[in-house]
Parts: sequence; structure tokens; C-alpha cells
Amino acid sequence: MSLADLSAAELSALHDDLTAQYADLKAAGLKLDLTRGKPSAEQLDLSAELLSLPGPDRTTDASGTDVRNYGNLQGLREIREIFGELLGIGPDQLIAADNSSLSIMHDSLVFALLHGRPGGDPWSGQQVKVLCPTPGYDRHFALSQELGFELVPVDLTADGPDLETIKKLVADDPQIKAIWVVPTYANPNGAVYSEEITRELVSMPTAAEDFTLLWDNAYAVHHLTDSEITPVDVLGLAAAAGNADRVFVYASSSKISFAGAGVSFFGGSPSVVDWYLAHLAKRTIGPDKINQLRHALYLKNADGVRDLMRKHRAIIGPKFEAVQRILTERLGDRDVATWTEPQGGYFISLDVAEGTATEVVRLAKEAGIALTPAGSAYPYGRDPGDRNIRIAPTFPPLPQVTAAIDGLATCVLLAAVAKLRQ
Ligand code: PMP
Repeated sequence: MSLADLSAAELSALHDDLTAQYADLKAAGLKLDLTRGKPSAEQLDLSAELLSLPGPDRTTDASGTDVRNYGNLQGLREIREIFGELLGIGPDQLIAADNSSLSIMHDSLVFALLHGRPGGDPWSGQQVKVLCPTPGYDRHFALSQELGFELVPVDLTADGPDLETIKKLVADDPQIKAIWVVPTYANPNGAVYSEEITRELVSMPTAAEDFTLLWDNAYAVHHLTDSEITPVDVLGLAAAAGNADRVFVYASSSKISFAGAGVSFFGGSPSVVDWYLAHLAKRTIGPDKINQLRHALYLKNADGVRDLMRKHRAIIGPKFEAVQRILTERLGDRDVATWTEPQGGYFISLDVAEGTATEVVRLAKEAGIALTPAGSAYPYGRDPGDRNIRIAPTFPPLPQVTAAIDGLATCVLLAAVAKLRQ
């Protein structure tokens, strides 16, 4: 029954019951961690073969060049071909780099600050604002803040962003230089940007001539259902709209192979790729090509990646299902919370009773369940409704996920009932 329909006496009885459940939870001495979207050890083990590749006898890439030496700033063609097919981007428009796409985001934004984007003025010395669809990825927001950008929140629902607001803001304000987009299975609410939305974003008139879509396709191949959506051709659509240089594409194999030792990618129009490589050349003589070669040998082709992702799904799918099942059982008829049912990616976004997310996270922490701080999916950590909690179920083993979500549900109910009784 909905909490709002309970009489004062029923609410008081429920509060007593939940307080007892919470005491039991604390007494259980749990030590569970749902904070970060990390692959589990079992997932990392899928790619154990990588550790023995390329082997002592293999020192050259497909073109015959020695991968142990300096050079090849753009990265191995064979790995760009594999990920190019998966991302819907030609290999010439893709750069393969070292292990972290977050580093590429950092570098590309620093290059824009110091040198300006192709054909544009340096962003430094200007007040730069960045649109942040929320809830969103906390590290995008932290990086933007670190570089001195002002973060402007815009709403993102599981169906996509508030396009009307975005279009109006970028049309009116030349200080808005960029928008963060996680187009496939967004972190944390699983939103997927349709072709129609993408078309709007690449073609909308912007007051800033050097406006940039920061297109972070971190979860392009991370499906949780049989409908394995193919990525929208964002670069093709941007070129067709006359805004070829608008898009910076980022991706990596972090949650495909090894989160700490994968290969990352940057994509863009030919002039954006040239621009990035020109500045990159001052920063490095070339990427870790041995790692790129071992990935190319291990993954073989785009289908090799697709097969591997199905193995990941077999491990993490049951964890996502457990979260849905427990939240439905415990909270489904209480009208205190809503949550997303992502079709892919690494997260579930939970909205609890208004004004209680901080308290829920505190209660959970005291009971040994670590959650990302409330508000972390919002610019400056400020969730205006104090409602949102990000659930990352991939890392702990299934029994721990089950225990943690059951405990979390107790905390959600306890905080909601306590608030109603105030
Ligand atoms: N982008 C998004 C949306 C992410 O969720 C993550 C990891 N949580 C990253 C980027 C980090 O990518 P990388 O490991 O390539 O730095």
C-alpha cells in the first residue's frame, strides 16, 4: 500500500517495524560497495588471454611495423578498424590511444582552452559554460569544473534530454561552448539518444561557432537485452548538417577488456582529428602499441567484441535483474521511489522520496553499504530535490548485490516514513 494512504497509527507501526529491520541490518555487519561502475573480477577473468599476448615472438603490427618502438600517433589501424565498425566511424576518423578515454576528454578540452578548436579562438580568457544533462556522469562534471567551466544543468530523462531547453540555451548564449552526451545507455539513467535527437543536436543553431558535442560513447556495446542497438552515425549526421567539426567522440575498451589497461579512442571530422593529432604530437611520441596489438589479436574483429560483451552480459545481467526484483518487491507498491530499467550500461538510477536521498545514503553507510554520495550525478553535487541515488551493481558478487539492495530498500523506506511522520 502507498505510504501516503497509511493512517498515523499504521505509519507508526511501520516505522517500528522498519527500525527493527534496520537494527538487524546494522547488526549483520555488512561490508558492501555499490559506489563505482567497475567490472567484477569474474568479468576481468574473461580477458585473461590478453595477459599472454602478443607473446615474445610477435613484435609487429599488421603493416609490419615494430610495435615496441616509438611512433604511430594515430594508433594501430587494426584496432581502429575493429572499434570503428562498432562505433560506426571510419578508421581514418578514429585515433587509438592509451588506457583512458577520460584522459582524452581532459586533453581535448585543454587543447580547446589553450589553442582553440579548429578555426576557433582559445577558450581560455572566455567564460565557458557547459551543458550537463542530469543526472549525469560525475567525472564529466568534475573535469569541467577543474578546467574552470560553469556547469549548467539540463534535464535528462530515460527517454532523452530536454531538447527544447537545450536548443534555446545554445541559441541565445555564446558562452555555452559544449554539452556532455553519453548517447548509449547513459550513466546513470540508461538513456539512449535516438537518431532524431542526435539529428537535432548536430544541426541546432548555436550562438557559439565552436560549440561542441562531447559525445562519450562509453557504453556503445554494453547491451543488457537481445536488442543490441547500433550506434547512430553522429559524425555523418553532423557533416550532412554542415557542422562536421561539432562533434568530439570518445570511447574505450575499459568495460570490455580491462578497466585499467584497455584502449581508448577519439573520433571526429578529418579536421578535428588533424587538430587533435597536431597537439597530441607535442604531448607524446606515440601510444602503447603493444597493448593495442594484444587487443587486436585477442578481439580479432567486431564480432569478437560482440561475443565478449554477451559473456559480460551473462555475468552482470542477473545482478541487474536482482536489483529490479528486490526494488519491485520492497518498494513497488509504496509510492516512495522510482528507478530506471536500463537496456544496457552499468547503472540504475534510483529516485527516492524528495529530500531523503542524503539520509538514505547515510543510513546505508552506517549499515555497511557504501553508495555514491547523494547528488553526485548533479553538477556541483547539488541535486535540487535530494532524490537521486546511483546504483552500480556490477562489481560485487550476486549474493552481495542482493543483500545490499535489500538493505538499501529498508533505508529508503525508513527515511521516507520518518519524513512523513515529521
Ligand atoms: N565515460 C563514462 C560515461 C563512464 O561511465 C566512464 C567510467 N565510469 C568513463 C567514461 C571512463 O572511461 P575510461 O575508463 O575510458 O577513462
